[in-house]
Amino acid sequence: MTRSTIFAVVLFPLALWAQSPPATETPVPEVIEEKKEEEKKPVWPPEGRALFEKGLQLGNIKDDPKKSYRRVYQRTFMPTEPKYPFNAVLTFDDQIVPFSDKEASAMEIANDLAPRGARALFFANVPGLASPSIRPFLKIKNREERRKACRTLLETKREIFVTAIRNLIKIKKDDVFLFEVHNHTAFHQNMRSFRLGSARMDCCIEGIRFVEECLDEAYAAERPGFVRDRWFRFPFLAVPRNSAARKEINELFTELGFLSVGETQDSKDYANRSADQAYLSLVAAHAGKRYSVKLGPYSTAQHPVALFHTKTWRDIGPGILKAIDQAMAAEKNE
Ligand SMILES: [Zn+2]
Repeated sequence: MTRSTIFAVVLFPLALWAQSPPATETPVPEVIEEKKEEEKKPVWPPEGRALFEKGLQLGNIKDDPKKSYRRVYQRTFMPTEPKYPFNAVLTFDDQIVPFSDKEASAMEIANDLAPRGARALFFANVPGLASPSIRPFLKIKNREERRKACRTLLETKREIFVTAIRNLIKIKKDDVFLFEVHNHTAFHQNMRSFRLGSARMDCCIEGIRFVEECLDEAYAAERPGFVRDRWFRFPFLAVPRNSAARKEINELFTELGFLSVGETQDSKDYANRSADQAYLSLVAAHAGKRYSVKLGPYSTAQHPVALFHTKTWRDIGPGILKAIDQAMAAEKNE
């Protein structure tokens, strides 16, 4: 199996670079250099893993401050992800520890993918919590008290969450780690209608910070020294509509080093639980096409991002495994 990150690592910065102004070729006088330092100009374009650096401003399109490379913008190109014969980044959203044994866990997916050496990214919420969990906090008027109440609930889940993350991220094949866990917020709220300073938004932010702490704790324990990519996925792919709320979230993402990621292959597994749709979405990825249930394969996707949900695995898994096995066998026979 050939795995190459070069494509992604080289092409993505180039794609960004193409939209940004060329570097100054003439030597810059020292005085101007100093002034630039003072203004703390971002290193631009950031490359590969540097994109996930905490506190790094991504800069502005063509140096126009009104056109920022916002971190909340949902990218569909993941420069640091390796390429596989099946040509898709496999992503699974929501609970890695299911609410009930009727739903699949992330570990079930890992157990099926690991023998194939296939990698997957899990965008996780905090076990046992969902948007109704914050209801008791909505009546608390004092913001600091509200934050603390929210934190107290989150902390009751730390141990089970960190353990579940650790069990996934330690799995290896041929000395390569196969699975990563990323932030999908704690409570899976729809962030679309968020207002600055509202209880819903405050609890969401506290939850996002909590998830990140748990990820840091788990990675520090299992893979000390590993610099992880800080991908984030919005629940329901819903970015705040309100510009002040969006700005605040973008600033939080800058602080935490997040990049928001969307999808190019959507088989709507959540609604249809169809192995056939899941299979077709990956066949389209293999052919370099995007996929939706309505359109089938369409447009192009160089490095497709396939969106699935952990809980549907028992239904859709056979379709995904079939697509992976076919693509890997085809590469072997080439
Ligand atoms: Zn979700």
